[in-house]
Amino acid sequence: EPDLAAKLAGLLGAGPKREVVHALDHVDLKVMPGEVLGLVGESGSGKSTLGRIIAGIWNESEGSILFQDKERKKLSGAEKRAAELAVQMVFQDPMSSLNPRMRIGDAIIEAPIYHGIVAKADAEAYLSDLMRKVGLDPAYAKRYPHQFSGGQRARIGIARALAVKPKMIVADESVAALDVSIQAQVLNLFMKLREDFGLTYLFISHDLGVVRHVADRVAILYLGRIVELAPAEELFSTPNHPYTQALLAEVPRVDTGKRQFKPIEGEIPSPLNPPSGCHFHPRCPLAMARCKTDIPALREIAPGRLSACHLNG
Ligand code: SF4
Ligand code: MG
Repeated sequence: EPDLAAKLAGLLGAGPKREVVHALDHVDLKVMPGEVLGLVGESGSGKSTLGRIIAGIWNESEGSILFQDKERKKLSGAEKRAAELAVQMVFQDPMSSLNPRMRIGDAIIEAPIYHGIVAKADAEAYLSDLMRKVGLDPAYAKRYPHQFSGGQRARIGIARALAVKPKMIVADESVAALDVSIQAQVLNLFMKLREDFGLTYLFISHDLGVVRHVADRVAILYLGRIVELAPAEELFSTPNHPYTQALLAEVPRVDTGKRQFKPIEGEIPSPLNPPSGCHFHPRCPLAMARCKTDIPALREIAPGRLSACHLNG
């Protein structure tokens, strides 16, 4: 049984000012309870749009989001609120969502008190417990956001999301701004919390190294379409789609000799005016005539593996 399913057709993604921010096209994604689904794409792929729609921050203009088999936009009252609280988002820069003049303890505890998840009398104990669980000293509750390091702020952002007892967390580039060693600590925290709270994750990142570290399954998004979806191990060992193959192409770094991912040749086309046929055709080394005109369907190429490429027949 999927925890959450997104079926989004056509152009969508209405931001706060109601402008359409990105095109997502026939995205059909199911997130299973307890899994970490990695969502990978370059900038302009629509991955943040998809994450915000799934987290309920933006509304889908077409299509539907189902949470535990119920279409979310048809819910009202307590059911709607429960569905909204069930999926929480952790952003790249928690500073942008923290009030600089609010003590971080208050920032963490305000939502659960507001939503009646914790009684005021129990708030302090609840907060201390939460802070310990994300690796923050409860004594820091009285401090202000600027008094914390990047890694600690990431933990504060995670605590705020966890505070309302979500079932699922959408992590959008949540470790992108951190040093590599701190990244690893925060990723390990995410994985520990998955065990402690039985969480499901949608883990959005442009960084394949990060996704490889945490994901059970990986979806690759290119200009608003999912082009490949596979168990993580298989995707990394035998990528099917030429775009995934290009993403995974590694080159040694000139300075350190360490291997790194090689940027794909060619510009990323505008997501608002994507190429015809297969969106990837202008950059694809294997493109054929039909790739310019025919949209390749996302089809099962092996059990549990989907790919959208005409080379698969
Ligand atoms: Fe390349 Fe054609 Fe496959 Fe698209 S459908 S990835 S252009 S071979
Ligand atoms: Mg983004």
